[in-house]
Amino acid sequence: MGATGVVDERPDQGRVQTAVVVGGGPAGLVAAERLAGAGVAVTVYDRMPSVARKLLLAGHGGLNITHSEGMDRFLPRYGASAQRLAPMLAAFGPDDLRAWCAGLGEETFVGSSGRVFPRSFRATPLVRAWLARLGDLGVRIEKRQRWTGWADADADSDDGAGVGARVEGPSRALRFADADGHVREVSADVVVLALGGASWPRLGSDGGWVELLAERGVAVAPLRAANVGVCVDWSAAFADRFQGTPLKHVQLTVRGRAGAAASVRGDAMVTRSGLEGGPVYAVGAAIRAALDDGTCVLEVDLRPDQDVDQLAARLGRRRPKDSASTWLRRALGLDPVATALLREAGGGALPGEAREVAALVKAVPVTVTATMPIDRAISTAGGIVWSEVDERLMLRRLPGTFVAGEMLDWEAPTGGYLLQASFATGVAAARGALEWLDREAMG
Ligand SMILES: Cc1cc2nc3c(=O)[nH]c(=O)nc-3n(C[C@H](O)[C@H](O)[C@H](O)COP(=O)(O)OP(=O)(O)OC[C@H]3O[C@@H](n4cnc5c(N)ncnc54)[C@H](O)[C@@H]3O)c2cc1C
Repeated sequence: MGATGVVDERPDQGRVQTAVVVGGGPAGLVAAERLAGAGVAVTVYDRMPSVARKLLLAGHGGLNITHSEGMDRFLPRYGASAQRLAPMLAAFGPDDLRAWCAGLGEETFVGSSGRVFPRSFRATPLVRAWLARLGDLGVRIEKRQRWTGWADADADSDDGAGVGARVEGPSRALRFADADGHVREVSADVVVLALGGASWPRLGSDGGWVELLAERGVAVAPLRAANVGVCVDWSAAFADRFQGTPLKHVQLTVRGRAGAAASVRGDAMVTRSGLEGGPVYAVGAAIRAALDDGTCVLEVDLRPDQDVDQLAARLGRRRPKDSASTWLRRALGLDPVATALLREAGGGALPGEAREVAALVKAVPVTVTATMPIDRAISTAGGIVWSEVDERLMLRRLPGTFVAGEMLDWEAPTGGYLLQASFATGVAAARGALEWLDREAMG
């Protein structure tokens, strides 16, 4: 690895220290930037022909880079991981990410929902400027290099240690294979692993790392689809007519064996095979838990701002000539998809009494049979469990190896929280790696 060509602001270590970053997504690249900025010679390895593919795809629909809400609302978005992520988000939060974007020539703005976007709305200008900056910092990027494990892996596999055993060895000597099967071994003073989750595997992150880390005894919670649509057995007539139609301003509540779990408002989209969209994703963890438990019913409240009494009073004023759909449209403003959903729940029929219809409008039961597969998911739940890393994101079992991004066991809804945590953990891993290098240099 060559010298970085930038002034090393850290104490003279006697020689240029080296880092290998595996994975060129936002988490890996920001770690590389921080390490190189501190004078470390950094090489990024990625299995794809180009880096940041998921970030670029995220930009296709409008790059929602972070969210503008205060930390009191922001942090709870990470659920059980909020506490572990809090110091990292305090060190590199939404304002820092926005300033970083501005530094790359991409000012950001806050949309009406509070979500933050680059002015261009896209990821391409940002990624282009970022790669130029990384080049200026001397970061080398080795593409088409798949990480396949450690250089001592052969010795490991012969010793009968098996999955789950801790294998001693040079944990910072890594092995990479190119598309032709040529293998190379690379050592560094410090390693950052940022290989992403397992959603959209054709963009690079395929979860192949799980087995490699499990062989080293690192506990990994199973990777599962997050921010993903759900499967519903619609009738053919409903699916044919309403796929691609939004259910507007609804409230979704997950009901499993354990009762109601989570409730979120927004627009849900009917698909041929189920439902997708922000509120569906936001209750995803509760949906998975209910499915694990054996049954998941999503209750759709079609009129969340009115209670059953108010709805029943309106429905009581039916004109004799009105068809059921005209009645529902006049009384409650229900559009065809909402009315069809009511019928779908009743096997084609609607209840006769106004109060029964009102109760149904408040809680249309939709049985979820599964989540869509992980390769259609926006993000991944599961990953390296928090107890495997220290507060600097160093793997306890592999000193000198740090992890960042979606590899870690956190999840969050859409809204900019995914990229924000990927960046924040990348920055934290780089900081931890620099501290480690300093300590090692001191002996
Ligand atoms: C369609 C879509 C839209 C999205 N939109 C948004 C959005 O608007 N806002 C938001 O906050 N989030 C969004 N996300 C999520 C966001 O893109 C991810 O959370 C983020 O990219 C994760 O960053 P990461 O660096 O951890 O992993 P990744 O970006 O997945 O990067 C991991 C890298 O590791 C490489 N890699 C994997 N395995 C190996 C290996 N064995 N050897 C070498 N390299 C390897 C991969 O090629 C990849 O380049 C979206 C995701 C998708 C799929």
